[in-house]
Amino acid sequence: MKYTASEIISVGTELLLGDIINTDAAFLARELAALGIPCYYQSVVGDNPARLQATLKTALSRSDLIFLTGGLGPTADDLTKETAAAVMGKTLVLHEPSYARIRAVLQKRNLPETENQKKQAMLPADAVVFDNDYGTAPGFAMTAQTEDGEKTMILLPGPPRELEPLYTERVRPYLSTATEELFYSLNIGMYGIGEAAVDRVLSDYMENGRNPTVAPYCGEGEVRLRLTSRGKTEEECRALCRRVAEEIRFISCEPYRPGVLNDYIWGIDCESVQEALVKTLRGQHLTISCAESCTGGYVAKRITDIPGASEVLSGSFVTYSEETKKKMVGVKAETLQTHSVYSAEVAKEMALGCRMTVGADIGIGITGVAGVDDAVVTKNGESVTIPAGTVYIACTDGKTTAVERLELSPGRRAPLEAREYVRRRASTHALFMALRMAEKR
Ligand code: ATP
Repeated sequence: MKYTASEIISVGTELLLGDIINTDAAFLARELAALGIPCYYQSVVGDNPARLQATLKTALSRSDLIFLTGGLGPTADDLTKETAAAVMGKTLVLHEPSYARIRAVLQKRNLPETENQKKQAMLPADAVVFDNDYGTAPGFAMTAQTEDGEKTMILLPGPPRELEPLYTERVRPYLSTATEELFYSLNIGMYGIGEAAVDRVLSDYMENGRNPTVAPYCGEGEVRLRLTSRGKTEEECRALCRRVAEEIRFISCEPYRPGVLNDYIWGIDCESVQEALVKTLRGQHLTISCAESCTGGYVAKRITDIPGASEVLSGSFVTYSEETKKKMVGVKAETLQTHSVYSAEVAKEMALGCRMTVGADIGIGITGVAGVDDAVVTKNGESVTIPAGTVYIACTDGKTTAVERLELSPGRRAPLEAREYVRRRASTHALFMALRMAEKR
């Protein structure tokens, strides 16, 4: 069945009170948009069966696919399932496989079995059950003929750590079977360009009804594009996504940013910039080393998060003090004196020094001020203030050395968060610079 209108109803008094943010609805809305299923309404209802019933009736009169989130738990105020089943004319019966799963989870957690827990396994007899590997309450879909036509409701547990994987692993394939269409997604990761610019240059691709759909997700200094195609076979869907991904590479970013989108892409079908870097270094049999100051080893950590890192990371240094910068990676006392520790020159010597020390192909040097307080340093005998968030990153392959200065304003973040923010952003930038250098070799 092709769904022509969908909506999302989130149940929970804590949502109405503003105690939690409705990330479930945001997640599902994005997913529906990616599948090209129109979603026209979102509602939030407290844990109140009468109001939920009224909301469900309205939803049934205008949508053929209705998502419900939350209120599937074992407690007395978890009434989503009972109310929705009654509205759809369904009776709940014990679903033995779900009950067995719930008992196994309780046993594993050393929790007693109670009658309440059984409530979670009471489902409509003809439900399509989505086994929950991340919690106890299963999700499910139920379909009924109503006077307004065939209607499907999909009920999912509220906690996002359950709802999101359950959707991806079980509901999405179910929707694909129900609509007799296959869905295929491909991700494109970008760095150095904002979501607004991406939105503008790709506006034609984001129009309703396109296949594949193209949706941008904004990260910290990163944008991810998700292409989702619909079709009869996986091959057809994959080819469609690949073709559009290739087109996207060469789209001009003018007048918002220089160059074409490809200049900002770190990977297609790749999870992270560090994964792209490790893959490229391995492919080219190259090694890397870092000398890090304000990032405190973050770049090395992110590289070692990726399987196969041992083939590419020769060794790395956290040279936090001026002394260790001199001793471990050969930064010259004169450079520190003349330019100060927070300078392009020091970053450059750190990159060259660590590369030489471990005999790596590529060296990275990072020095800067993390946190919220400006730093005062001596430069050529004079006191100079370096604003918080100033970071110098150098990347070298021995022949060419690139140095960049970042101004990462920590904004209104609390001190610890600000440090973390500057470290994360600077490490992403360094990984991206190293990737570009490795690609050019
Ligand atoms: P449980 O079995 O954990 O009780 P449930 O399906 O009954 O799951 P709720 O009791 O409604 O879910 O919510 C449990 C928790 O899940 C909430 O306290 C909240 O942290 C989170 N949650 C619920 N609904 C949402 C939502 N729409 N968006 C984000 N988080 C949510």
